[in-house]
Amino acid sequence: MTSSLKIGFIGLGIMGAPMAGHLVTAGHDVFVYTRGKMPDAIAQSRATKCLSARGVAERADIIILMVPDTPNVNEALFSADGIAAGLSAGKVVVDMSSISPIETKLFAKKINALGCDYLDAPVSGGEVGAKNATLSIMVGGSDATFERVKPVFELMGKNITLVGGNGDGQTAKVANQIIVALNIEAVAEALLFAAKAGADPARVRQALMGGFASSKILEVHGERMVKRTFDPGFRIALHQKDLNLALSSARALGVSLPNTANAQELFNSCAAHGGAAWDHSAMVRALEKLANFEIGQQAA
Ligand code: NAD
Repeated sequence: MTSSLKIGFIGLGIMGAPMAGHLVTAGHDVFVYTRGKMPDAIAQSRATKCLSARGVAERADIIILMVPDTPNVNEALFSADGIAAGLSAGKVVVDMSSISPIETKLFAKKINALGCDYLDAPVSGGEVGAKNATLSIMVGGSDATFERVKPVFELMGKNITLVGGNGDGQTAKVANQIIVALNIEAVAEALLFAAKAGADPARVRQALMGGFASSKILEVHGERMVKRTFDPGFRIALHQKDLNLALSSARALGVSLPNTANAQELFNSCAAHGGAAWDHSAMVRALEKLANFEIGQQAA
């Protein structure tokens, strides 16, 4: 680290807590604010706890957001006690939440009008990537702002890419979520099929790990399906939010995404069965309902 930076972090949930923790560990001056309970690790750290997003923006030069959805970002930015009310020229707002690419462009314009820079920088890699500082970070914004914030990104992630202008980072993230959802569906169908055919799904997963069917999803989510560990992780409600962004944008663009729509229906079915807060690997449960058979059950 060259010198200590003043970094703000707003939204300390499953992802934000470990990400902010890395910034504290690196020795930066970190100013935090979150809704809900302050996570113990941050509460006990030397991070400065602020009473509002505005308080964070008044003290920090780079202000990071990691909240659930577009309305949460809007509120954190522009409510009376929000970030915009505390900004002064030359500061940078970095939204690492996964939200609407279209709204992102509007948010960036409003922050730019205050003499500040804006990056959208959503991530992939989940809770494990957040804890291990191995997230993929997809960034939208100017070259100069990207270079300014890159040393901070490097404390939280590994594959850090400037995709294009504001909104393009969020577009990349929507594309990421399409691939992840369809991959979960493929793994769920394959393991369900194998189990119903009488093979041990754990061994089938093991057998497929080295070949063309291998993927991070087979590795991580396949294991969750076999072991029935559906605590998030990544909540189905958040993936529904992301596929909603994919499907509504695709409709606006006149692009047909038939299998994305299908994956969304399976998530909708999980939510209807009380599973909005299950990990997204639990999509397999919707397929199990259709098959009237559960992975782990003994095939007849
Ligand atoms: P989370 O619900 O665990 O955490 C969000 C936190 O933000 C909560 O503590 C909430 O109280 C707080 N919050 C909400 N509105 C706020 C506001 N206006 N001001 C201050 N705090 C506010 O969610 P998460 O799983 O950490 O996800 C955060 C974002 O990261 C989402 O956009 C999600 O899609 C994305 N993401 C999550 C994962 C994952 O595996 N969980 C992976 C990649 C990306």
